[in-house]
Amino acid sequence: MRMPQANHTPKDVERIVKRLESLRPIFARAAIGDYSADVPPYETEDELTEFAVGLQIMLEVIREKIAKHEELQKTLEEKIVEYADTQRALLNVMEDEKQTRAQLELVRQREAEEKKKLEILVESVGEGIIAVDEKLQVVMVNSAAYAILKATEKDIIGKQICEVMQVMDSDKKVIPENEYPCTLSIQLKKRLVLGNLESPYYLKSLYHDPVPVSLTSTPLLSNGTRGAVIVIRDISEEVAHSRTRSEFITVASHQLKSPMTIIRWISEWLTENETLSEEGKKLLNDLHSASLRLTSLTDTLLNVSRLEEGMVRVDVTSVDVGKLVSEYCNLLSSYAKEKEVTLQCVSPSTPVKIKSDAALITVIVQVLLTNALDYTLAGGTVSIAAARDESRTVIKVWDSGIGIPQQEQHHIFTKFYRAPNAVPYKVEGTGLGLYTAKKITDLLGGKLWFESQEGKGSMFFVELPEKIKAREGTKQLVF
Ligand code: ADP
Repeated sequence: MRMPQANHTPKDVERIVKRLESLRPIFARAAIGDYSADVPPYETEDELTEFAVGLQIMLEVIREKIAKHEELQKTLEEKIVEYADTQRALLNVMEDEKQTRAQLELVRQREAEEKKKLEILVESVGEGIIAVDEKLQVVMVNSAAYAILKATEKDIIGKQICEVMQVMDSDKKVIPENEYPCTLSIQLKKRLVLGNLESPYYLKSLYHDPVPVSLTSTPLLSNGTRGAVIVIRDISEEVAHSRTRSEFITVASHQLKSPMTIIRWISEWLTENETLSEEGKKLLNDLHSASLRLTSLTDTLLNVSRLEEGMVRVDVTSVDVGKLVSEYCNLLSSYAKEKEVTLQCVSPSTPVKIKSDAALITVIVQVLLTNALDYTLAGGTVSIAAARDESRTVIKVWDSGIGIPQQEQHHIFTKFYRAPNAVPYKVEGTGLGLYTAKKITDLLGGKLWFESQEGKGSMFFVELPEKIKAREGTKQLVF
């Protein structure tokens, strides 16, 4: 820069001052951080030109620096915002994770509580409970099951179910492993109930004699089959009581039989040989009927206890079922007439022959036909038919009688059970007829069922197999 010289004229000084004056706003704005003003241009070059150019360059450098700085600032701000977002997202994730962990902990706590409750429940039930996995390995056992099997944890847990216990059917025949209740319930995906008081199943542990039981096996079905739960009820006491009761009935029936026969003979002898007043005849007649009823009752009771003991012999011959049915129908024709009920026997077109026990089938026919006549009012009809339907032999007994109320139907084969609507029509009924008929049908390998509508009538069906095997037995039924 050229400095003012001593030879400068006052005019020069004035020009220089004016020129410097023109730069004042630039400095004034720069003082408050505003570098946007430019140095005003000069047409002529003088001693301030170099200074003015330098100043302009400086201004531009500063502006550029400011622009860069601002850009950097902006990037920084953006980064800060981005960082804040990331941090917020991270916090959210952490918060979520915290919540998830809390929820998981809650679920775990609940599961533990439920497990505890289940354990208490499983322990508190009187029945034995054994759970097996899909490989039939024992995974859980309650105290009642340990007691039934007379075993401890180390004898059972982790072992195959067939190593732990043998299952026997009601004839004490050992059930093979592939037919174990839990094996079958897993395979069939359904609950199986086996054994009851009348025909118990047996469990034999490694260390003890067979225990009579009733068993339920339920498959565990969540997400495919995962095993099964076996519930075991020890029915030794009930079986023992039932046996005592049966023995008592057998003895009492035997004891009653002889005096009843004597009473019957005496009443028959007196009726034939003595001249009696009308009153005397009536009393003797009543005595005779009562002795017949009592004899029939003792016979029924004896039959029931023999069937329950499972000692009844089955003799197999060729049986013409059509003939058997029509013969029995004839036998009851006078009773039907007395009741004013039409009794008809629908004869099959060709003989219906099977290999079975004729005497036992007769007991079934007797029960069904007598019931049909007993529970049909005067003017009604009772029919019986035997037919071969495809490969099945079916005896059908149907009537237009009082019928069995819907709500009573599931009890009808239960021992001593009588539907309330039946009682007035057969006061001396015992509720043992159908029970006996069902037991005999089972013994003959058949099926017995019915359809009925109250007030309209009933239809009983007996399906018998073509051929059965004779069965050894020490007892025969009384007819
Ligand atoms: P009981 O006839 O001696 O009462 P059963 O065991 O033979 O005993 O029959 C049981 C019950 O079944 C009867 O009491 C009656 O309620 C009902 N029942 C059986 N057969 C018939 C039928 N044909 N019509 C209506 N009810 C019947």
